[in-house]
Amino acid sequence: MRVPEMTIGGAAAPAKGTFDVYAPATGEVLARPPECTPDQVEDVMTAMTDAFPGWARADRGPTLLAAADALEARAEEVADVVAQELGAQRAQAAFQVTGLAGFFRYYADLELPREVLKDDGQALVEVVRRPVGPVVAIPPWNGPLYMAGMKVAPALAAGNPVVLKPSPFTPLSSLLVGEILREVFPPGVLNVVSGGASLGGLLTAHPVPRKISFTGSVATGQKVAMAAAADLKRVTLELGGNDAAVLLDDIDVAEVAASLFRAGFHNCGQVCVAPKRVFAPASRYDDLVDALSALARAAKVGGPGEEGVTVGPVQNAAQLAHVEALAADAAAKGAVLSAGGGRVDRPGYFFAPAIVSGAVEGMRVVDEEQFGPLMPVIRYDDLEDAIRRANATPYGLGASAWSADVDRAVAVADRLEAGQVWVNTHFATLGPPQPVVGTKHSGLGVEKGHWGLASFTDVRVRYVTR
Ligand code: NAD
Repeated sequence: MRVPEMTIGGAAAPAKGTFDVYAPATGEVLARPPECTPDQVEDVMTAMTDAFPGWARADRGPTLLAAADALEARAEEVADVVAQELGAQRAQAAFQVTGLAGFFRYYADLELPREVLKDDGQALVEVVRRPVGPVVAIPPWNGPLYMAGMKVAPALAAGNPVVLKPSPFTPLSSLLVGEILREVFPPGVLNVVSGGASLGGLLTAHPVPRKISFTGSVATGQKVAMAAAADLKRVTLELGGNDAAVLLDDIDVAEVAASLFRAGFHNCGQVCVAPKRVFAPASRYDDLVDALSALARAAKVGGPGEEGVTVGPVQNAAQLAHVEALAADAAAKGAVLSAGGGRVDRPGYFFAPAIVSGAVEGMRVVDEEQFGPLMPVIRYDDLEDAIRRANATPYGLGASAWSADVDRAVAVADRLEAGQVWVNTHFATLGPPQPVVGTKHSGLGVEKGHWGLASFTDVRVRYVTR
């Protein structure tokens, strides 16, 4: 695969070293992208510093629209790269590209908030927003361009230069996006760099950036927050989740199983807001496990380009090892993996999707985020107890409640500790206007929507006497 160079200061930055990226569908080296050196990090910081004053004053909307056009014009090519690096099917890969372009379009038109506190003969007092300054954008590997879009587009729209650092597992599509947009943005406004484990730390510790927008695990989010504390950079952290889906006793089992399966195994379960702990009443438990297991058995596991695939590979070897360890721990503690639950006998990081019945707290598959094709189903006798157990986690990203009676489900959903709650669905989104937010250890700050735009600004008071 051709590997685009990094984009620094509006130009291609020649590689001074490389690292290996593996294809999830084969387990073989897919490409060797550039490893950004500390000197090149300095070049990025100089470029952002130089670009900031001009970009902050520019009429930015048309440039953002031009970025969306440029991406859409080469959407096929970018989607191909996403499919290979993520191991995803075509439609899912294409969504990463249209999603990124959609963020540019949405933020191109969105006005920054402005509030007039006083406007009379004595004074005009306004609260306005100013761009915060150079931004470091660090997304995870599970949705490389969509996650980049919810950071990069509002950061740029608010008037900040950005350096995008994709995950070392999926850097290729972002490098290509950088190349495509080189001609669109003024030099230094959008920089894209790639590198291994140490690059994120170099960028977040550097004194030039004034904001870090990070999506990833809780453990890395804590490191980012500590790096930011040194010079009080602003941070937005979108972190892990262990979403509960609380099912009530009046559900239509077949319908709910189909929805839960779709939500839980989309992107091979590698979704921050996937249902990760299903709480089912004892009276419906066996039927639900049977229905989910039938869906898991019927799923077609395969790689990009294969016909009829519903579940792709796990994205990387470490994540596959994590999923295997959780499955083994659950089995050792008495759970039953009702369908699949092991590696598929072929090259690549394929794991047969499994429903984990007899799952209880104390099993890793319940207590930890699986982020893979495993769905634990937990039996409950008493709804109050289910709500308490659903909330008994440090995570608070998403949660859902399911019932034939919407009012009953809303009443339960309102008691679940999560940044977003759904009723009779899970992880549905309106796209760019709908914010994403985590409570407890799942995050700090808000992304997407007008809240996301405001998060790349500082509040500024302007008091004009008359
Ligand atoms: P990760 O924390 O391992 O890595 C995320 C990013 O941080 C990568 O780009 C990585 O290179 C970078 N990084 C690593 N060390 C760093 C450091 N010291 N400083 C700065 N950056 C550093 O997470 P991951 O495995 O890529 O992604 C999976 C996790 O992301 C899961 O926990 C998932 O729930 C979470 N996630 C959350 C959301 C959300 O919106 N809340 C969305 C998607 C994924």
